[in-house]
Amino acid sequence: MGSIRGDAILSRTLTLLGATGSVGTSTLDLVRRNREAFRVIALTANCQAAELAALAREFGAELAVVADESCLPALRDALAGSGIAAAGGAAALVEAAARGADITVAAIVGCAGLAPTMAAIECGKSVALANKEALVSAGDVMTAAVARSGATLLPVDSEHNAIFQCLAGNDPAHVSMITLTASGGPFREWEIERLHRATPAEAVKHPNWSMGAKISVDSATMMNKGLEFIEAYHLFPVGIDKLRILVHPQSIVHSMVEYRDGSTLAQLGPSDMRVPIASALAWPARMDTPCAPLDLAAIGELTFRRPDEARFPATRVAREAVLAGGAAPAVLNAVNEIAVAAFLDGQISFTRIVQCAETMLARGLPPPPSSLDDVIAVDEESRIRALEMMEPLR
Ligand code: NDP
Repeated sequence: MGSIRGDAILSRTLTLLGATGSVGTSTLDLVRRNREAFRVIALTANCQAAELAALAREFGAELAVVADESCLPALRDALAGSGIAAAGGAAALVEAAARGADITVAAIVGCAGLAPTMAAIECGKSVALANKEALVSAGDVMTAAVARSGATLLPVDSEHNAIFQCLAGNDPAHVSMITLTASGGPFREWEIERLHRATPAEAVKHPNWSMGAKISVDSATMMNKGLEFIEAYHLFPVGIDKLRILVHPQSIVHSMVEYRDGSTLAQLGPSDMRVPIASALAWPARMDTPCAPLDLAAIGELTFRRPDEARFPATRVAREAVLAGGAAPAVLNAVNEIAVAAFLDGQISFTRIVQCAETMLARGLPPPPSSLDDVIAVDEESRIRALEMMEPLR
C-alpha cells in the first residue's frame, strides 16, 4: 500500500464534493490506497444515493449529502444504522463544505458547485479545484475570496496542475508564455459538414481521457479548452497575451511555461486524472499512484499544432468573453451548460452549442457581478435566457 512521504502530510481531513463522479471516484481510489493519510469528513453527490452511501460507509465519512433533496429519503435508508449523518439540499451542501476540512476537493460538475466551493474557500484551508465552471463563472469574486481567506487553491485540471507545477519556485514576472495543451477531442480531424451531424454518443467518446458526459462534450466542441483558458487567466495572472493554446493529440505534455531566458518547462504524464489529483492531494509533498510511468520510447512522437478556430470557434468565443470581462464568462458558462444538456438530450445539433453561446454574448450583458449572490443571479438569469434559445432539431 502506498503512502505519502514528506512534510506534515500525515492524516489530513478531507471533504469531497462530487464523490460519485469521474474525478470523485479517481480521488477516492487514491484515498483508498492511502487510508492512513486522510480522514474523510463529508462526501456529496447530486442524487446517486445508494452509491454515495456505499462510499460513505467504506470511507467512514461523518456526513453524506445529496444536493437533490428528493433523494434524501433514499440516502437515509441506505445509511440506516451506520451512524453517518445524512443531509440534503443546496444549504446542506454548503454546510458540508463549510466544515473546514484540511483539504476540500471540488469535483461537482457545473456552476452548481460554486456555492459549496466558495464556502470551502472561506474556511481558509486547501481547496483542490476540478470544478472549472465555478471559477469561470465567479472569476475575480473567487480569487478575491481566496486572497481574503488565505485559502490555498490547488488546480486539479491536468493542464492547470501542470502549469502550477511548472511555476513552482519561479517568479511569475519572468514568465513569457503559458501554453495550455489540448487533445483536440474526438472530432479533431472532422470537417465542418460532419460536425453538424455529430451525435451525443460520438461526442462523449474521448480518445485519451475517460470523463463525465458534460466535460466530454466540452472537449469535443473545444469549449473545455475555452473554459480552461478563462480558468488559467484567473489562476495564473500573467495577462491574456501570455496565454495560448496548442493542440497536442497525444495528451502527454499537459501544459508548458516558457520563461524570459528561453527555458520552457513542461509537465508530462499519462492521461490519467489520478496523477494531477495526487499532485494536489499531496502538495507540497508527493504520493504514490498506481499509474504506470510514461514510456516515451513507445509513444515515440509528440506533435503540436495551432487550434483551428474556423472549425472549433469555442476558444475564440472564450477569449472574447475574457476581454469583455464582467459578467461575460458567467453568461458563457451558463449558456454552454444549458446547450450541452440540450445536445445530450437530442434537442439541438452539436454545432449549435457554441453558436448559442456566441449569440447570447452578443445580445448584451448584465452588470458585472461583485459578490457570490451576484454571480448566482447572473447564472440563473442566463440559464433562463439560454433555455429560450434551445429550439428542437428539425
Ligand atoms: P461527473 O459528471 O462524472 O460527476 C459530477 C459529480 O457532481 C457527481 O458526483 C454528481 O453527483 C455531482 N453533481 C452533479 N450535478 C450536481 C448538482 N446539481 N449539485 C451537486 N452535485 C452535483 O463529472 P466529472 O467528474 O467528469 O467532472 C467534475 C468536474 O471536474 C467538472 O467541473 C469537470 O469540468 C472537471 N474536470 C473533470 C475531469 C475528468 O477527467 N472527469 C478532468 C478535469 C476537470 P451524481 O453522481 O449524484 O449525479
